[in-house]
Amino acid sequence: MDDKLMLMIPGPTPVPEQALMALSKHPIGHRSGDFSKIMAEVTEGLKWLHQTQNDVLILTASGTGAMEAGIINFLKRGDRVLCGNNGKFGERWVEVAQAYGLNVEVISAEWGKPLDPEEFRAKLEADTDQQIKAVIVTHSETSTGVLNDLETINRYVKAHGEALIMVDAVTSLGAVSLPIDEWGLDVVGSGSQKAYMIPPGLGFVSVSPKAWEAYKTADLPRYYLDLGPYRKNAAKDTTPFTPPVNMFFALQVSLRMMRAEGLENIFSRHHCLMTATRAAIKALNLPLFAPDEAASPAITSVYPGEAVDAEQVRSVMKKQFDIVLAGGQEAFKGKIFRIGHLGFVCDRDILSAIAALEGTLSSLGYSEFSPGAGVVAAAQVLTSA
Ligand SMILES: *Cc1c(COP(=O)(O)O)cnc(C)c1O
Repeated sequence: MDDKLMLMIPGPTPVPEQALMALSKHPIGHRSGDFSKIMAEVTEGLKWLHQTQNDVLILTASGTGAMEAGIINFLKRGDRVLCGNNGKFGERWVEVAQAYGLNVEVISAEWGKPLDPEEFRAKLEADTDQQIKAVIVTHSETSTGVLNDLETINRYVKAHGEALIMVDAVTSLGAVSLPIDEWGLDVVGSGSQKAYMIPPGLGFVSVSPKAWEAYKTADLPRYYLDLGPYRKNAAKDTTPFTPPVNMFFALQVSLRMMRAEGLENIFSRHHCLMTATRAAIKALNLPLFAPDEAASPAITSVYPGEAVDAEQVRSVMKKQFDIVLAGGQEAFKGKIFRIGHLGFVCDRDILSAIAALEGTLSSLGYSEFSPGAGVVAAAQVLTSA
C-alpha cells in the first residue's frame, strides 16, 4: 500500500510528521539572524543530548564523515592507534585510520561477539612510553547488534592517560546513556538518520578540551572536515559552509521532542523495545545473534540458521506487510536479519513487527513456535514496563 512503509532498519529511521513539516518549509539564508537563533538552540540541545559541556559540532555529512573528522583532526601521521573491530563499522574505522597513514593496531572479536576490554587493558598497560595516541571504539556495532562495553574500555584508556578515546556512537547516542563528561569521552561521532529521528544528512562530533589540545599539533590533511572552523563559527552561532538549513529546522523540532520526552525516558523506551523484541524472538525459538549481556538497545539481529531463509523473511515482510527489515552484511549477508528499533519507534511498532514476523515465518513453513507466542512475549515486556 502506498505511504504505509514502516522502516525497521537501523537508519534511516522513521521521521515524525512535525519534523517532515519542518523540512518542507522555505529555506532561509544561513547568514541570517533567524538561522543563528536556530543554530544556538540546536547546539544547546545537542549538548543536552550528549550530556556534555564540550563542543558539539554539526557537519553536512553522514555518520562516516563525522567519524572521519573525529579521527583526522587530532592525530599525526604515523601515530599508533588501537582500533576495535567486531563488525562492519569497526572495520571501517580501521580503513579510515589506515587511509590517513596511522599506525593501526586492531583488537578484534568475532562478528556477533563483544570486544574484550581486557585486550585493550593489556595493550594500554604495556605501552609504558605512551605511544598509543588514540583508542577507537564502536559503541553499538550496528552490523551485528552488539553493544560493546565502552565504559570498561574507557576506564583503561583513562588509566593510560595519554590516548584519546574516540567513539562511534552512531546508533548508541540517543538510544542508550552515553555520559560524555562523566566518562571523559574525547571524540564522539553520530549521525542524524539514527536516534535523532530525522533524515540522513547531518553528522555530529563532540570534542573534549584534551582533543582540542591535540588538534594544535595534529598534521593529517584536512579541509572540509577541519573542525577548527566549525568550532570558531559555532561560537558565533553560524557555520563555515552552507548548511542544509531545512535539516536544521527538522533537528530543532526533533530535539524539542526529545527534551519533552526526557533523557531517562528515551533510554528506558529503547531498553524496553529491545527487551520486548528479544523476548519475542526467543519465544519464536529463533537464535539471537548478539548475547543478552551485550545487546544493543538500537537493533536486534536474528540468526535463523537452517530454520528459515533470512532473505525470504525480509522479502515477505516487505511485500506482505510493508515492513522493511535490514539484512546481514559481508559474511552474514543472507544469514541474519536485523530489526531496527531506534529513534521514533514505539511499543505498537514492535507489536506490529512481531505479529507480521509470526505470519511471515508460518507462511515460509517455519512452525517451531506456538502462534501468538512472540506477540504475547513482547506484550508482556511492554505492558509491565
Ligand atoms: C549508520 C552507522 C554509521 C554511519 O554510516 P553512514 O552511512 O555514514 O551514515 C557509522 N557507524 C555505525 C555504528 C552506524 O550504525
